[in-house]
Amino acid sequence: MAETAKPLTMDTIVSLCRRRGFVFPSSEIYGGLGATYDYGHYGVLTKNNIRALWLRAMVQERDDIVALDSSVILNPRVWEASGHVTEFTDPLVDCRTCKLRFRADQLELASCGRKPSKRPGETPDCDLTEPRQFNLMFETHVGALQDESSTAYLRPETAQGIFINFKNVAQLARRKPPFGIAQVGKSFRNEITPGNFIFRLREFEQMEMEFFVPPAEADEWHRYWIDARYRWYLDLGLRDENLRIREHDADERSHYSLATSDLEYLYPIGWQELEGVSNRGDYDLTQHTRESGTKLEWIDPDGTRYTPYVIEPAVSIDRIMLAFLCDAYHEEVVGDRERVVLRLHPRVAPVKAAILPLVPRDEGMAARARVLYEELRRHHIVEHDDSGQIGRRYRRQDEIGTPWAFTVDEQTLEDETVTVRDRDSLAQERLPMSGVREWLDDALARDWSSPHSR
Ligand code: ATP
Repeated sequence: MAETAKPLTMDTIVSLCRRRGFVFPSSEIYGGLGATYDYGHYGVLTKNNIRALWLRAMVQERDDIVALDSSVILNPRVWEASGHVTEFTDPLVDCRTCKLRFRADQLELASCGRKPSKRPGETPDCDLTEPRQFNLMFETHVGALQDESSTAYLRPETAQGIFINFKNVAQLARRKPPFGIAQVGKSFRNEITPGNFIFRLREFEQMEMEFFVPPAEADEWHRYWIDARYRWYLDLGLRDENLRIREHDADERSHYSLATSDLEYLYPIGWQELEGVSNRGDYDLTQHTRESGTKLEWIDPDGTRYTPYVIEPAVSIDRIMLAFLCDAYHEEVVGDRERVVLRLHPRVAPVKAAILPLVPRDEGMAARARVLYEELRRHHIVEHDDSGQIGRRYRRQDEIGTPWAFTVDEQTLEDETVTVRDRDSLAQERLPMSGVREWLDDALARDWSSPHSR
């Protein structure tokens, strides 16, 4: 196998996602809507896996974190107290020549409207305004009246739904700090410069965990969560040369943050934030205590009262999926053929195995393949494919990252064994049909690392 050495572009990933039905532009038949995308079958399956793996690491495998699902639309006073109404802004500049808008702090990622090979401001014709602050929250109205008193917001982060439930959870979940509350759900931001596919969306699915700790332990827990989240990505096969930790300078931190470190991934557009891990201090609980009049504090059994500090790992499924797809994408030559293969971690891959009758019109093969498929699909997402040449069927599965294919062939009719083909090594071995289910369970439980790791 020889790898073709082309640098990966975002267009390559976009076209694979489209060709294989992972992701489509939203509202496409009406011309689309900026920075919104719809996930097709394989996209949904991949997202489901990422969400489940995150919840597994955050909730199932720990006894100090509980789950929550709060509303998207909250009382608007929440966003006044949290500082989002005044502070959740990005600096915006307009170009008077090409009439496009850009984020003043990210001009290096944007292209000039007239000369796309240049950055905004780089050509003599560019005429940029002074930056002005633009609030990223989407406004809506609650109830029949549309006036100022009915204004509400679509949440720009899931975290505030957690803070305002601190008292409920602390009382009912029988947990004492350090403990965490984890939440997965849609967030909405009216981003100024959307683009770069699912990296920056106006509607995305966030996964946030707020970990409440005694203030004196905050630095230690901050380091703990940076390491834990870094390891989670490596365990799921992300190559460590494409992942790094970057600490924010004081002037780039959000209004609530005492310290933030980003886990950055080397996307085709360069090193960019994949996940942020912040020490939010006691900012949020203090603000909500002040504005709501409800004390959001912890009282120890000995009567000591304090407002916990909060450590927050925050990420979107969309950015994780993009990182996994970029890391997994490979073009290589096998024999005299090129293949595109997604080397996804088997637990992330949308389909775990394909069941393929070698000669679909052979009744014996077709019947056995169907029986195997119907047994396996009770336990895993698997696919049965009986259309086209076997080589084409393998390549279809390679492109969506299916780690294994079980092929029913002539020999199956004689001895009830099937061939298992490995996506990464292309090695083939024979297994008794009756042992396939157990083999697949074991294979999915094994560690996996990319054959392209250094
Ligand atoms: P950026 O600087 O890229 O705008 P941010 O620092 O505002 O991001 P946070 O508020 O820290 O982002 O959000 C936490 C996480 O939510 C990010 O690390 C990212 O994974 C995800 N996220 C934020 N905004 C978007 C978006 N517009 N589209 C997709 N995911 C997003």
